[in-house]
Amino acid sequence: MLPYDIDFQSLREKISSEGFERVLLQLPEGLKIYATEIVDALKGYNVYISTKPCYGACDIEVYPDMLTLHFGHSEIPNIKYPPNIVFVEAFSKVSFKNVVEKFLKDHSCDSAGLVASVQHIPQINEVRELLESRGIETYVGNGDGRVKYPGQILGCNFSTAREVAKKVSCFLFLGTGDFHAMGVEMATGKKTYVIDPFTQEYHEVSEKVSRFMRQRFGAIVKAEEADKYGIIVSSKIGQRRIKLAMALKEMIESTGKKAYLLVSDVIIPEELYYDVDVYVNTACPRVTYDDYLRFPRPIISPVELEIALKFKLWENFKFDEIVEVD
Ligand code: SF4
Repeated sequence: MLPYDIDFQSLREKISSEGFERVLLQLPEGLKIYATEIVDALKGYNVYISTKPCYGACDIEVYPDMLTLHFGHSEIPNIKYPPNIVFVEAFSKVSFKNVVEKFLKDHSCDSAGLVASVQHIPQINEVRELLESRGIETYVGNGDGRVKYPGQILGCNFSTAREVAKKVSCFLFLGTGDFHAMGVEMATGKKTYVIDPFTQEYHEVSEKVSRFMRQRFGAIVKAEEADKYGIIVSSKIGQRRIKLAMALKEMIESTGKKAYLLVSDVIIPEELYYDVDVYVNTACPRVTYDDYLRFPRPIISPVELEIALKFKLWENFKFDEIVEVD
């Protein structure tokens, strides 16, 4: 059974009002298991389940004669989407109360910043009230034009955390996995804890951040030696950083080295066998960080390229974030 709050009555009304004969269901990987249940809840409509991977609201699938229902992500406010797409947010029902109580027994954090992945946004208030009832000052940032909700973070945007970083002594990330919390710790320099409501456990990510930095340093050293760079540009609506790619190309060429632009919808390391020494990724930052070991050549972020080419110092290293797209 779907563990998310979804208002199917309103959704059915929305589909009927849009007047499309066919509906496309686009789901992130974690929701694909519920695809048939969702189709059953939309009985009476002609629903097609997209089997393509879907990683975020940056990554939409639309066809002129279909209404796309994009589940599980909130729209990115500063992207101009086509009109035939409806974002269906899927908020989790799980409570953080017990795991936060457990955290508070072992830790003191005088003032805490709260951040969450989109499915746990409603629980920010629950956690805030709990922390404040124990005398802990709590801060939630509004973020920039890439996030819809206060406290929301994406794997490519930590603006809500940065905004309140000076006021807090630690961050609590409400969600699962380490990636987002590592991004928060690197963007703010503040100790960050993953508060996982499913395992009811919490942990900090500092050690993983140190390991990650060593890996990135190794990649930059390899990139310093390169003569030919392949700059990856995404054709996805929410990942397309063409101006940045062009600026990087100019920068590389100004040092007497060669640069080539590579464009793709889906970036699959196993298919990137080009005659270049290093890839520079302007698409989703997770490709650089999560898939690093799968690439046949080192892959680096835009700021890592600047460091490798000596336009910036290592001290300027930061996690790659997307603020705007072209
Ligand atoms: S670019 Fe990557 S991290 Fe950012 S929203 Fe898209 S999938 Fe998530």
